[in-house]
Amino acid sequence: MATQSTNAESQTDRHIPATMQAAVYRGINDMRIETVPVPAIGRGEILVKVATCGICGTDLKKIHLGSHSAPRIFGHEMAGTVVRLGQGVDRFHLGDRVVVHHHVPCGTCYYCRKQTPAQCSQYKKVGATAGFEPSGGGFAEYIRVMDWIVASRGVVHIPDDVPFEQAAFLEPVNTVLKAIKLLNLAADDTVLVIGQGPIGLMLAALSRRAGARVLTSDLYPERHAIAAKFGLKDPIHAANEDVVERVFKETEGRGADVVILAVGGAALIKTAMEAVRHGGKVMLFAQTQHEQASFDPGAVCMDEKAMLGSYSSSFEILDEVTGLVFDGYRNGFDLTRLISHRFSLDRAVEAIDVASHPQADSMKIMIEPVPGAGAN
Ligand SMILES: [Zn+2]
Ligand SMILES: [Zn+2]
Repeated sequence: MATQSTNAESQTDRHIPATMQAAVYRGINDMRIETVPVPAIGRGEILVKVATCGICGTDLKKIHLGSHSAPRIFGHEMAGTVVRLGQGVDRFHLGDRVVVHHHVPCGTCYYCRKQTPAQCSQYKKVGATAGFEPSGGGFAEYIRVMDWIVASRGVVHIPDDVPFEQAAFLEPVNTVLKAIKLLNLAADDTVLVIGQGPIGLMLAALSRRAGARVLTSDLYPERHAIAAKFGLKDPIHAANEDVVERVFKETEGRGADVVILAVGGAALIKTAMEAVRHGGKVMLFAQTQHEQASFDPGAVCMDEKAMLGSYSSSFEILDEVTGLVFDGYRNGFDLTRLISHRFSLDRAVEAIDVASHPQADSMKIMIEPVPGAGAN
C-alpha cells in the first residue's frame, strides 16, 4: 500500500486512477467513448470527479456544426466532488461538493464595465478541461479546473441537502435569469414564451416569478404537463392552435408585452414579432448561430417592437442564482423534474443522439459517469 508522501505536490485522494473514460468529439457528428489520461493539475488548480453533467444545446451545436476543432471533450453543466488540490488552494478541501463554471469574466474590462460580460475576452477562455483543447470536460470522469476559475467565483460549494443534479442547473439558470432581468418585467406584463424545452420552461417559470402573466407555447402536451408543475397554467398547444391569434385573444387584441423565443433557428422570429404588441420586446434566446434572417423593419421602427438578445451567464447575479437553485430545491423550483433521461458515460453517444432529436418525452438529459451519482 502506498504511504502518504510528505513532500507531495498536491493533496490527493489516493483512489484516483491514471486513466479515465471520456466522450471525445473527433469531428462533425463523430463522438467516441475513449480512454484518456486523468488530467494533471498545477498550482492553484483542483481536480473534480464529475457526478453529473447536463447536455446543453450549445454542446449539440458544436458537435453537429463542427464550429470547433477536434479533438475536444465538451460538457459544461457539471457538478462533482473535489478529489485533488493543487498547491496554494485553501478555499476548497478534498470531498467538497461543487459546481464548476467553465469560464468566468474578468470583471474589469470595457465589456464587463458595460454589463456585457459574455463579450469579455477572459470569459471566452475556457478554464475547465478533461484533456485536449479546454472545452468544459464534463463528459468525462474527471476535470481539471484552472487557477483563475478556482481563484474567482467559478467554483461554487453545494449545500449538503441539494443533489448534484439540481446544482448542475446553476449555469443554465444563470443564463435564463440574466435574460429575464434584461427584460425588466412589470407585474401587469403578459409574456409569451415560445418553446417549452428545459430552457423555455425555466424562462417561463422565472418570468412568472418576476410577477408577469405567462403564456407558454409548445407542440407537445407532455411538456405543458411538466410546465404545469412549475405553475405555468396557460398553455398554447401550437400543434393545433394559432399561437398569434390566441395571444391576441388573451391580451385584448394588443399582443404580448414580451415574447421570448426559446426555439433555435430563424423560422419562428416572424411568429414572435407578430405576437408582440406595438412597443413591446422580443427576446431571441436560442439563436446561437450566425445567419441571415428577414424581418419587417417597419415593425421595429414604426411599431416600436424592440428585438434583443441575451447569451450566457453573468457573475453579477451569482448569489441570486445560487439562492434560487439551492433554496429552490425544496421550495417549488425543483429542477430535477426537468430531467427526462440519465445516461452513463459509456452511453454518452446515445445520450447526445437522444438530445439531438428531441421527442415529446425528452427534456433535460444528463450524463453520469457513475449511474445514480447525480441524485446524491
Ligand atoms: Zn450551456
Ligand atoms: Zn472582462
